[in-house]
Amino acid sequence: MSYQPTLGYAQEQDRQDPLRPYREQFYFPQHNGRDVLYFTGNSLGLQPVSARDALLQELEHWKTHGVEGHFRGEMPWLEYHKFLQPQTAHIAGAKEEEVVVMNTLTTNLHLMMVSFYRPTAGRYKIIMEAGAFPSDQYAVESQVRWHGYTPEQAIVEVAPVEGEECLRTEDIIAAIERHGRETALVMFGGVNYFTGQFFDLPAIVEAAHKADAYAGFDLAHAAGNVPLYLHDWNADFAVWCSYKYLNSGPGGPSGAFVHERHGNNPGLPRFAGWWGHDESERFLMRKGFRPIKGAAGWQLSNAQVFSFAVHKASLDIFQQASLPALRAKSEKLTGYLEFLIREINREKERFHIITPNDPQARGCQLSIYTHHDGKRLYNYLEENGVISDWREDNLHGGEVEPGQAGVIRVAPVPLYNSFQDVFEFARLLKDYGKK
Ligand SMILES: *Cc1c(COP(=O)(O)O)cnc(C)c1O
Repeated sequence: MSYQPTLGYAQEQDRQDPLRPYREQFYFPQHNGRDVLYFTGNSLGLQPVSARDALLQELEHWKTHGVEGHFRGEMPWLEYHKFLQPQTAHIAGAKEEEVVVMNTLTTNLHLMMVSFYRPTAGRYKIIMEAGAFPSDQYAVESQVRWHGYTPEQAIVEVAPVEGEECLRTEDIIAAIERHGRETALVMFGGVNYFTGQFFDLPAIVEAAHKADAYAGFDLAHAAGNVPLYLHDWNADFAVWCSYKYLNSGPGGPSGAFVHERHGNNPGLPRFAGWWGHDESERFLMRKGFRPIKGAAGWQLSNAQVFSFAVHKASLDIFQQASLPALRAKSEKLTGYLEFLIREINREKERFHIITPNDPQARGCQLSIYTHHDGKRLYNYLEENGVISDWREDNLHGGEVEPGQAGVIRVAPVPLYNSFQDVFEFARLLKDYGKK
């Protein structure tokens, strides 16, 4: 790829970009009368213009039909989760029956661990990445305590080797092999929120299964960002949220994947609710839970229609834009950001990227590590119309002053970010400290 560090080059790439029109389908916050440079699609994706109508339509449906809205119209609420299954399956690389949209992410992580973390005297460990997102750490910690273990006994964290920030696949595999016989579950993020590393998920599944353990993933930073083939990879379960790359708004619903070999096993223990019960009998209000086949059998409650409606509007955009086209642009756009930062670093390293430079080992996010004064760089960017985000260092044991060491995470999102956005961001980095 022959990138060039000029505005003209960036603008030319935008002119040639087949996904260029999608930018107009999103609202950008404003700064001094122009669009901000928005790089936090990894935290909260922008609002699709179509979200409002999707939401209003359901409000109208409720207004017009009251409870009959469950049965009427093109998308009766009774069936609502089904309308999201095909596109969700596509995002996850799964069969339709293997996915369902329900609840929120951490809730679903717990529901999945109820089914897939059932420790026995000899097999009680969970292997996860060190520095996982706090909610995942708390979920795992509370699960092992709930089963009567301490985190020290039951949680194995795989950390990067001294002097590195990312994990080597061989070290993950080695940890699984080392603890294999005592391991009940390998639970990893898909893309680590801090480093932006996209783990080798099929290799993790294979190693976990070789050890007779389950493999589950939190794909919060992966869904809508990187190609996923959960069915073919043979993952046991996965969960993700819809408000990051999937642009479905704050508190948006979560997606869950359960491989069909488990989805078709009604004997698999789970926490149940009426919405996961056999549909033909749901309203007979009888005793005795009989799960629907597939991931839908883990549903507890009736659909959160308003948030699902917005999610559906966003999934429609993904379908139109197409995942291969999004990934192709994403690799190029993030590659351009990396190139521009390397240009700035030519004489001396001013901005240290900790995200892997192999495009196959990352999504669109780059994490720029600062040893000190990181918050000041973040504030400078903010004053100049950049929305990025600042995360305190969690890799080095918290022995640093807040606001000093940490990462600025920058995620150019292929649906709505442009090459010019990336160019302007890099120009700000270049000028940092010079005025
Ligand atoms: C964003 C994120 C969460 C947030 O969980 P919610 O239940 O949606 O609040 C959890 N885990 C990971 C890995 C995340 O990136």
